[in-house]
Amino acid sequence: MSGWESRVRRTVPYIPGEQPKEAGIIKLNTNENPYPPCPGVSRVLAELDCGRLRRYPDPDALMLREAIAKDCGVDVSRVYAGVGSDDVLAMCFLTFFNSSDPVLFPDVTYSFYEVWADVFRVPFETVPLTEDLLIRPEDYMRENGGIIFPNPNAPTGALLSRDAVEQIVRANPGSVVIVDEAYIAFGGESVLPLTERYDNLLVVRTLSKSHSMAGMRIGYAVGSGKLTGYLMDVRNAFNSYTLNMPAILAGTKAVEDRAYFESCRDKVVATRERLKEQLRAFGFSFPDSKANFLFVTHPEVPAQKLFADLRRAGILVRYFNRPRISDYLRITVGTDEETDALILALKTILKKETTA
Ligand code: PMP
Repeated sequence: MSGWESRVRRTVPYIPGEQPKEAGIIKLNTNENPYPPCPGVSRVLAELDCGRLRRYPDPDALMLREAIAKDCGVDVSRVYAGVGSDDVLAMCFLTFFNSSDPVLFPDVTYSFYEVWADVFRVPFETVPLTEDLLIRPEDYMRENGGIIFPNPNAPTGALLSRDAVEQIVRANPGSVVIVDEAYIAFGGESVLPLTERYDNLLVVRTLSKSHSMAGMRIGYAVGSGKLTGYLMDVRNAFNSYTLNMPAILAGTKAVEDRAYFESCRDKVVATRERLKEQLRAFGFSFPDSKANFLFVTHPEVPAQKLFADLRRAGILVRYFNRPRISDYLRITVGTDEETDALILALKTILKKETTA
């Protein structure tokens, strides 16, 4: 390779889950919430005066950050907002991971972490999960340039207790510890209260799944005012207007309607527990999930085969052809009807495969 091409910043991009174009697919592959956003979101978007779009949005997204701060019970200065938690996390890598020591994250986790480390030239080491696919806090008590993991972990769904997270944070006063709570809304215990006591802990969340707002792209982080201040500085060295005006208005409505959020969450959790029981009866095993997805493996039928057969039956789930997890499927919890269709399809496939 010669000339300008040798100077290109090359990277291996993240591959998002498929967004199928054909109608009628039951989509259980990207952990979206199966219910629509709250009525206030539809209302505020329908009533949006497009004349306002000629102005730039509020660079501080104050209205949205205030709603989030109130919901979390923290001061607004401790809330940072971005274009989905992917944007927030990318800014975190750029802002906090600047050491020659490696950043640590699990070997089985959100695959975007490796992509950001690569594109920002951040050295990293992956820390193996246990045989049962769990994070072991002791493994994060060594020299490092920062720590990041999702809680519950993705794609396993397994939750680390608040005490276990605190052990990691307490053992690493010289590093920023980022806890990605993309799926915490579905029944896990948040570590957000720990941000009052540890100024090196940042909790990152998203409205994508919890509030059915994936299409709007809204994420946020809560931590000490020092952490959010540094994040804001880097963001402002990049792009002052990250969140657009409709996102600020709609996101505020979504956060304010706590009762609607809770009713959707309760439905997802109830369906998840029903799905667990059914899948166990079919012979699947999986880590106990506190997220809106299950990470399942079957003793007789390979995951890749199940993935293909489900696809043929019009049901899309997620398959990762990666070390350690190539025999697992990640299945998003849908509505009750979608779940019934999934159970029926699996029953048919397993019957054919196990009696063949
Ligand atoms: N963290 C984890 C663990 C995720 O699975 C996802 C969703 N792909 C994200 C962050 C990003 O979500 P979003 O950008 O929609 O907020």
